[in-house]
Amino acid sequence: MKTTYNMGQVCLNEGPCMPLEPDLKDIMATSRDQKELLWAWQGWRDAVGRLLRGTFEQYVQLSNKAARLNGYRDMGALWRAKYESDKLEKDLEQLFQELQPLYLNLHAYVRRALYRYYGPEVIDVKGPIPAHLLGNMWAQSWVKILDLVLPFPKKPPEDITKIMRSQHWNPEKMFVEAEKFITSLGLLSTPPDFWENSMMERPTDGREVECHASAWDFYNSKDFRIKKCTEVTTEDLLSIFHQMGHIQYFMQYKNLPVIFRAGPNPAFEEAVGSVITLSAFSHKHLLNRGLLSRQHQDSEEEVNFLMGIALDKIAFIPFAYLIDLYRWKVFDGTIQKDNYNLEWWNLRLKYQGLCPPIPRTEDDFDPGAKFHISASVSYTRYFLSLVLQFQFQEALCKASGHVGPLHRCDIYNSKTAGKLLEDVLKQGASKPWPEILQNITGKTKMSAEALKTYFKPLMNWLVTENVRQGEILGWPDFSCSFEEKETDKVKFLSLKLDPDQAKLGQWVLLALSFVMFLVALLLACRLYSLEKQSLAQDTSAQGTSRQDTSSQDTSLKTPPNSYFLGIAMKPSQVAKRQWILLGFCLILMLCSIGLIIRIFTQHHRKPPWMSAEWWSWD
Ligand SMILES: [Zn+2]
Repeated sequence: MKTTYNMGQVCLNEGPCMPLEPDLKDIMATSRDQKELLWAWQGWRDAVGRLLRGTFEQYVQLSNKAARLNGYRDMGALWRAKYESDKLEKDLEQLFQELQPLYLNLHAYVRRALYRYYGPEVIDVKGPIPAHLLGNMWAQSWVKILDLVLPFPKKPPEDITKIMRSQHWNPEKMFVEAEKFITSLGLLSTPPDFWENSMMERPTDGREVECHASAWDFYNSKDFRIKKCTEVTTEDLLSIFHQMGHIQYFMQYKNLPVIFRAGPNPAFEEAVGSVITLSAFSHKHLLNRGLLSRQHQDSEEEVNFLMGIALDKIAFIPFAYLIDLYRWKVFDGTIQKDNYNLEWWNLRLKYQGLCPPIPRTEDDFDPGAKFHISASVSYTRYFLSLVLQFQFQEALCKASGHVGPLHRCDIYNSKTAGKLLEDVLKQGASKPWPEILQNITGKTKMSAEALKTYFKPLMNWLVTENVRQGEILGWPDFSCSFEEKETDKVKFLSLKLDPDQAKLGQWVLLALSFVMFLVALLLACRLYSLEKQSLAQDTSAQGTSRQDTSSQDTSLKTPPNSYFLGIAMKPSQVAKRQWILLGFCLILMLCSIGLIIRIFTQHHRKPPWMSAEWWSWD
């Protein structure tokens, strides 16, 4: 499955094929043409998801078999066991509920902005958002559409990618930058082998490699590596900080017995690098590192700044939550294989408020188009890490002596904060996680409070803005059904009309046909009587003519006195041809009435001739 995912490419009709990284990701991030976005979105799912469907069924069976042999009910239960909590599912649900208002406010605000940009043809201002418009192949991070949704567009944030490029940064410098931050806290520096053996860029020797960034512990207490196809972008700098967090964890617990060489639960491992990025990407730190030039952020610039972070972190909340919700249901059989794709979209709608941009079927397997599903990596870690990193940040900032709003904190150079973090990392998985969490935060429970504190200035602004716009939060009464949409607009004589208008048009056509039919009948009657009359005159005129001829003794024939379509001929021939013409007219009339009746009855059945046009882009 992983190989299929990594080899996946989408090809243009005539032209090159594009891999996910960087080509398709770039299109999703930078294109503002919804047809192009749809092309990439659909292409990736056709190229990867569809191929994985059969293998995934087999994978589910085998995973469950392995889990049962290890004493678990199914693979989902085995994954959950890492968190050593009977009420993990409940706790997750509670955290999600607590965070949902943040997401709903962001969703409503972004939906309005996209509506302004793409218009009512593409997005409904009260409904779910089409999944291809959010700047990311999976709509898990929306940061790439910041330009479309910026709260204060007159104060756009500085472009860090541009600044890095103008300062000639390269991948190695980006790794050195992360190293510098981590060692400033008094933590360990990476050994020379790390710099030699890591793959920091996509190889240029023709090798096909998996580019999904990852950090590796070779479990020999000295070999640690990162694999990443780095590009000089802000996003990749963030990702490097995250991966370097993993490496720091590996180094800190390297002397523990192998069984303890891990985080006390997988979310801890993910939170370490992420908590460092919270400081490293604060305005204060970026200014300090020469990656920003404006000295101060005013309150509007701060809202813009927090919007950028929220598009990454708050937008991620429901996505991170639903991925394992989905797989747990697959593993325990609640979701059957006949409904794999349908149930995936049910969850995407329920939690993320997203719909696929085009109809999906059970030939598709859209979950497979996400790395962690094809690579069988549990995802709960990312959801919990989201919560945990802010809890860590709050504790570390407090230790570093930071005062003021949480989003302005930068723990760079703080040895006290570093020591606090080190104590957590050094313990690896040797103690239950609530105990380790208590060491750093003073609490034994994961809590969403710190995250809410961090985003408070943004949320205040968002709530006010949404109230001002009269937004309805969420997408009540909406589904992703395409049938509903199909009856919205119908085609009538090549016009797109409302069904009612089309119906009216059909009645008018039918009535016109009947009127024409009556007119034709009347004409036929009149023709019949005229013919009778003219034939009678004709006979009497011929009688007179014969008398004249005989009396005058000439050989002249009687000249024709009738015309048909401008051709002179005998009245009897004219009459015959007129009848044939009238017959043709009647046949044509009956055909058109028949056709209209057929159209009308089809309208009531269900419409092959009325096609759903709202999503088609050809
Ligand atoms: Zn990670």
